[in-house]
Amino acid sequence: MLNLKNPELLKTACLIDGKWVTSPKGATLDVTNPFDGSVVATVPVLGSIETETAIIAAERAFTDWSALAAKERAAILRRWFNLIVENADDLGAMMTAEQGKPLAEAKGEAMYAASFVEWFAEEAKRVYGDTIPSPTTDKRLIVLKQPIGVCAAITPWNFPAAMITRKAAPALAAGCTMIVKPAEQTPLTALALAYLAEQAGIPKGVFQVVTGPAQEIGGTLTASDKVRKLSFTGSTEVGRILMGQCAPTIKKLSLELGGNAPFIVFDDADIDAAIEGAIVSKYRNAGQTCVCANRLYIQAGVYDTFAAKLAERVKSMPVGAGTEQGVLIGPLIDEDALAKVEEHVADALAKGAKIVTGGTRGSQGGTFYEPTVLANVTQSMKVAREETFGPVAPLFKFETEEDVVAMANDTEFGLAAYFYTENARRSWRVAEALDYGMVGHNTGLISNEVAPFGGVKQSGLGREGSKYGIEEYLEIKYFCTAIR
Ligand code: ADP
Repeated sequence: MLNLKNPELLKTACLIDGKWVTSPKGATLDVTNPFDGSVVATVPVLGSIETETAIIAAERAFTDWSALAAKERAAILRRWFNLIVENADDLGAMMTAEQGKPLAEAKGEAMYAASFVEWFAEEAKRVYGDTIPSPTTDKRLIVLKQPIGVCAAITPWNFPAAMITRKAAPALAAGCTMIVKPAEQTPLTALALAYLAEQAGIPKGVFQVVTGPAQEIGGTLTASDKVRKLSFTGSTEVGRILMGQCAPTIKKLSLELGGNAPFIVFDDADIDAAIEGAIVSKYRNAGQTCVCANRLYIQAGVYDTFAAKLAERVKSMPVGAGTEQGVLIGPLIDEDALAKVEEHVADALAKGAKIVTGGTRGSQGGTFYEPTVLANVTQSMKVAREETFGPVAPLFKFETEEDVVAMANDTEFGLAAYFYTENARRSWRVAEALDYGMVGHNTGLISNEVAPFGGVKQSGLGREGSKYGIEEYLEIKYFCTAIR
């Protein structure tokens, strides 16, 4: 049971054109708790008809929303931010229920989600254009920034709140309207955010949420020429499909896709700091974030020490229901996620890896997997090539800086990378050589609302958060005026 201080947050209908809409045939989708498989609530199964209605409403709403002064949009977004903060405990409880992450992490995500709304409420007022010195004396050249128009967002389950606000806040700040198709596993948080948006005074049609079959809703959003932009966070596989679907209408795209983050520890690192960083980076959300360390490269001189210390820490991590006090590792999202983790571990063991700790399903049953450390891991194993998305730390041994940079870059992904060294010259060399959109030095935690989040190579397109994030929702218009 989900006990909320504010029961109004639990919505079982979608917000479309200012109305709370259910399926005409009463079809619903169960939202289950990954801890025990119990049904938390149901949400409507809507399809292309309701999505079209949302698109038309978003287009209509765009006229007035984009015409507001930025300061007015900022004030409304600020109210949305305040409401998210006021309801952070409930939003946290909701995320623990539908996603499984420990309550402290879930509340942390609610605040993280709110931070994007605060930041972009402020940035709304700082959308500057340019004047360009003309090559001739008879003209004046001006660059205007204008909102793109109707935007769509398709979001994942691992951050049910933050992946929505990181897209919707800059879109709304810029003057765009947005339709969100949340992940089928975590729609309740999305609907709660829609309720709070409504309470904050965000006008009808400006922020809408549609739940139902991904392919149908995604297909309708991408096929529409009224939708001018798609922002997607999820797997590279689905990103590729959506990019193709956006090709006929030449839609603008932001894609935050898979990662395969290397976490490098050099002999000259502060080992205790590296252990802390590895714990935070690897085991947050039970390893289910796209910036989670996926491959841990440890230099030969500190390999054994690092492995022993990490295993000791990992063994003491409390595993259990996200609602239990002190739990650090919750269940995985579903059976498929568990199967992937098992497959990666089995593949590594078959090719010569050794279990230092863990390596089995959790004693709690369900979709729990023990926090795990694997040693003797090599580049030929699946854990080296694919995102495991679970609480498994594979340890690779390396000899030289050159070797490790080559191994770290030997992947089609390029989202986040981390390294630990106390050598300042090396830190610059390695930071510049890593082919990644984000690099953390002596830290395992790099995400915040003021910094640009995003990847290179097949990890995606564009950046979210920061002063750059709002640009993703703006078009440049060049205005040339002849003065004589
Ligand atoms: P994950 O493997 O982490 O669940 P996905 O990329 O499958 O990541 O899902 C991310 C989001 O993309 C979810 O909201 C999901 O419903 C949606 N999605 C999945 N497949 C499609 C598709 N073919 N078209 C549109 N959206 C999709």
